[in-house]
Amino acid sequence: AWRNQSSHPTTSSLPKRQVKSLSFMRRRMRRLTAQWAAAARRLDERLRGQYREQKRILVHVGFLTEESGDVFSPKVLKGGPLGEMVQWADILTTLHVLGHNLKISLSVKELSLGIPPGRGSCPLTGPLPFDLIYTDYHGLQQMKQHMGLSFRQCHIRVIDTFGTEPAYNNEEYSTLHGYRTNWGYWNLNCKQYMTMFPHTPDNSFMGFVTEELNQTERFKIKRDKVNNMAVVYGKEASMWKEKLLTILHHYMDIHGTVYYEAQRPPEVPAFVRNHGLLPQQELQQLLRKAKLFLGFGFPYEGPAPLEAIANGCVFLQPKFSPPHSSLNHEFFRGKPTSREVSSQHPYTEQYIGKPHVITVDFNSSQEFETAVQDILKEKVEPFIPYEYTCEGMLERRPNSTALIWAPNITAPACWPPLSALRLFLSTEASSCVKTCRDSGLICEPAYFPFINNMECESLEAEKNHVFPAVHVDRRECFQQKEPLLFSCAGVSAKHQRLCPCRDYLHGQVALCRDCL
Ligand code: UDP
Repeated sequence: AWRNQSSHPTTSSLPKRQVKSLSFMRRRMRRLTAQWAAAARRLDERLRGQYREQKRILVHVGFLTEESGDVFSPKVLKGGPLGEMVQWADILTTLHVLGHNLKISLSVKELSLGIPPGRGSCPLTGPLPFDLIYTDYHGLQQMKQHMGLSFRQCHIRVIDTFGTEPAYNNEEYSTLHGYRTNWGYWNLNCKQYMTMFPHTPDNSFMGFVTEELNQTERFKIKRDKVNNMAVVYGKEASMWKEKLLTILHHYMDIHGTVYYEAQRPPEVPAFVRNHGLLPQQELQQLLRKAKLFLGFGFPYEGPAPLEAIANGCVFLQPKFSPPHSSLNHEFFRGKPTSREVSSQHPYTEQYIGKPHVITVDFNSSQEFETAVQDILKEKVEPFIPYEYTCEGMLERRPNSTALIWAPNITAPACWPPLSALRLFLSTEASSCVKTCRDSGLICEPAYFPFINNMECESLEAEKNHVFPAVHVDRRECFQQKEPLLFSCAGVSAKHQRLCPCRDYLHGQVALCRDCL
């Protein structure tokens, strides 16, 4: 069903490495078929009568192509970053279930067959065989190198786990002001970048799904939970912290899923029961029994903690103080964002919280031990935020397949509706992300053009990613001159920012109350 064009190779003609990644994705799609179908039926009933256009969509999974070095496939069976596979599998399923016409490309050759050279700039210079192209940063590079596309393109969507902030996205500005990285500066509308969690409101929230439980499974979980069983998050032993494990071992039996080869078992403490890397379904079974899922700080922002919480585990994770970011941490260095990551999994910390998620300072053994003792006393129900269910993911997708308007094109009527706009003036050195969040709202960059015309005695227009804003000492107002630089994320010690916030649906932060 995914590859309905006869010019595409079947998996048997693909390099072996790609086949491993694709089989992981295929198994996931098959396992979740019933769940997707039920969600689609429910959504269809709710949205009945709403016209939705079928789009022709090219999905070019850049990081899986041989040309990008296919960095992940060889690691798939060894516990490499499976989060990306999970997300791509769910994106393909979403687009398919919504009825779009999909073509999938896994090599530069397939991509070139799909898009004739010179086509694709915005406004369109000629008929393009696609309405939209979903790809990633690797794919963008390949398009530029091999086809010389102009990248002010309204039909491109970039799957970008950690997000891209406007200051890094604008080529001229990032070069002049020290925000240039290896990844950023594509001059896209930042809404064209799609993240795994809703952490960067300048971008769109794509997400993925978590497996849902039926009544029987819920009942079984209640019946079979083992109160003193913990599973450690982290598929490599180097991610583990032995001192804390020793404390935990006083209270609980510890299980792990660290990859190992028969000749060289992993270096985990002898009291850990290591299962090796498990097929996803077996990991779910393990999580259904366990009470605690313990993260030691890496990997950042993956799908596994949501899976654990969905299966009735408490997720215990370290708080980062100071927060990790591209300014102070090797992993984030060079990523096109200054976002401060406050814990291993800020989404679960901020949007889920207690009793499902406990975030403490792991430098204090005492705090860690108290958290474990509290978890043993607590009874916790399985929980999935609506936005990570199939229905939730389908519900916000029509938005992503709608046109995102390139800055040089006249915008249509504002979406989300202007009725949801709430205007705030930030305190100095505070971003609009924080200002809106502090009031229980979310920053909405689509509103920036509407609030850029303030009335002020002294008003200047400049290109600066913290404008519109008011100077703290001089009481001068500054308008934004470059629409690409409107930014929820921007912070300046010398300015109070003018912030466009909006409300959001509980469990579906991408949508406002009047959006549906
Ligand atoms: N996973 C798995 N087997 C394991 C451990 C993890 O199939 O033994 C899956 C897990 O279900 C999750 C995915 O790997 O959906 C990604 O996990 P993680 O959160 O660790 O993110 P990553 O670092 O792999 O991107």
